Amino acid sequence: MRWSQAFIPTLRDDPAEAEAVSHRLLVRGGFIRQLSAGHYSILPLGQRVRAKIDAIIRSEMDAIGGQQFHLPALHPGEIWKKSGRWDIVGDELFRLVDRKGADNVLGVTHEEVFALLASELRSYRQLPQIWYQIQTKFRDEPRPKSGVLRVREFTMKDSYSLDIDTDGLDSAFDLHHGAYRRIFGRMGLDAVDVEASSGAMGGSNSVEFIVRSPAGEDWVVTCAQCDYRANLERAVSAIPEIDDPAESTLERFPTPSIKTIAALAAEFPEVAPPERQIKTLVYVLDDELTLVLLRGDHELLEQKLSDTTGATKVRLALVEEIKSALGALPGSLGAVGVGGIPIIADSELSGRRGLVTGANEGGWHYSGVDIERDVKVGRWASLRTVRGGEPCVRCGSSLEVWKGIEVGHIFKLGTRYSEVMEAMVQDEAGVSHPIVMGSYGIGLERGMAAVVETNHDERGIIWPLAVTPYQVVVTVLRVDDPETMAAGKALYEELANQRVEVILDDRPERPGVKFADAELVGIPFRVTVGPKGVAAGTVELTTRRDLKTEGVDRTSIVARLLELIGT
Ligand code: ATP
Ligand code: MG
Repeated sequence: MRWSQAFIPTLRDDPAEAEAVSHRLLVRGGFIRQLSAGHYSILPLGQRVRAKIDAIIRSEMDAIGGQQFHLPALHPGEIWKKSGRWDIVGDELFRLVDRKGADNVLGVTHEEVFALLASELRSYRQLPQIWYQIQTKFRDEPRPKSGVLRVREFTMKDSYSLDIDTDGLDSAFDLHHGAYRRIFGRMGLDAVDVEASSGAMGGSNSVEFIVRSPAGEDWVVTCAQCDYRANLERAVSAIPEIDDPAESTLERFPTPSIKTIAALAAEFPEVAPPERQIKTLVYVLDDELTLVLLRGDHELLEQKLSDTTGATKVRLALVEEIKSALGALPGSLGAVGVGGIPIIADSELSGRRGLVTGANEGGWHYSGVDIERDVKVGRWASLRTVRGGEPCVRCGSSLEVWKGIEVGHIFKLGTRYSEVMEAMVQDEAGVSHPIVMGSYGIGLERGMAAVVETNHDERGIIWPLAVTPYQVVVTVLRVDDPETMAAGKALYEELANQRVEVILDDRPERPGVKFADAELVGIPFRVTVGPKGVAAGTVELTTRRDLKTEGVDRTSIVARLLELIGT
């Protein structure tokens, strides 16, 4: 390809409101253009990177026995109603009514359609199967952001494993785990596998692959000493137990005009330090008002609440709802003596005595609360957010909390979808079983952006060889000099003949402009051909990663590049 003929619309300035590095560099480098919020056109350079990621994923999926499909993006609403996800997925699901008045859905993933296809299987002899596709997904994200990191329309490799039993599922899960490690490794991504929440899709065992980056939206908890690694949504830690009094007598005491945990602690430092208080939150979980209790100095993690209850709609109750249920306003709420309302409490409160909480009457609190005795807790669960520096549950070392990008997700689904779609197979004895499924995803454009987030400098992108749009750029200085131009073109053709992915920068631009573009776009090797070198029989080789330049004999440059590229 000649740069003069290529559509590579590089920009000197950052796009407005672009914070994430990958957003800035992919737009400036001419890889992507926004059409509307959350929808991006992938331009030729972006498409070359995407095609390489696609090929890496396909080769690793094929290596674990995957068979590639291509399913429709538009599904009949009916199958989503059948699986229950018509209601569960909520506003993220794009829904549209066709001319016949029928409901349709744009797929956020494809469990329904694959399970439907799996209903054609009959016997355990046909299992296991791994089915995959690389296909467009639509999600009406509440906040599309950061270029292609979070969009409403993106390409996902989604795969589904089909097995006769959970042992089979475990093997398929492990195969995917290995394939994902190899895929991300080949893409140049340092992706850490962490325990994760399965969210609303249903499933038990779930692992996310996370790349450390400030542009990410996931928080990860890792231990430096042992292999404990979890998404914050699932993470737990071993915080020190609090020494409680042996006896605690429930007493009401006046707390005029005190409305916060901090104010109560300041006023009654002996009786009510935050770790002795019960924080009472009122939530509405799928339309059911619920009290959620935590230690006064702990924060709720809403995902844990939805994971533990299975609720898909989680929101704080409105003041009027609280007033009518408890007869009190936030600031003096408590669960002592409350009946008829479900109460969920964080495990750190279990067995605690001598606690302080609101009395459901303005200006009054209780002290001496024995939670097991005085509060009707219906469910105990880990609900609180782990904080950096807390001790690891496995080894006691200090935990680190960091931010990252989720590039892949694997989880064990079970039989939920096969049951509703009647995907059954007979075992050896002729007994019918629902197929046991797993579900596995990788976002291609998010993966591309994650590579940029972790491979760049102040001048631009530094593509790892495996996913670079071009391996080499031959930059001709003085294209108006016929001899130099001919020498550049000859080198370009020689490299192209050796199957090197090469672009010839033959634009009539100043060298500074061409160098800056090559660095912005991130091509790993630049060979500069200029009049002086042509006369001396040399070229200059610049490596993008360290920006080092060396003179190389014209006669040996091709061999040198082939060696560097590793072909
Ligand atoms: P997130 O928590 O970031 O919303 P998710 O858990 O909804 O992700 P999955 O349903 O597991 O994501 O989808 C599989 C993969 O698809 C993700 O690991 C990610 O790489 C990609 N992906 C998901 N949502 C988006 C999006 N809105 N934009 C780009 N890629 C996405
Ligand atoms: Mg999501």
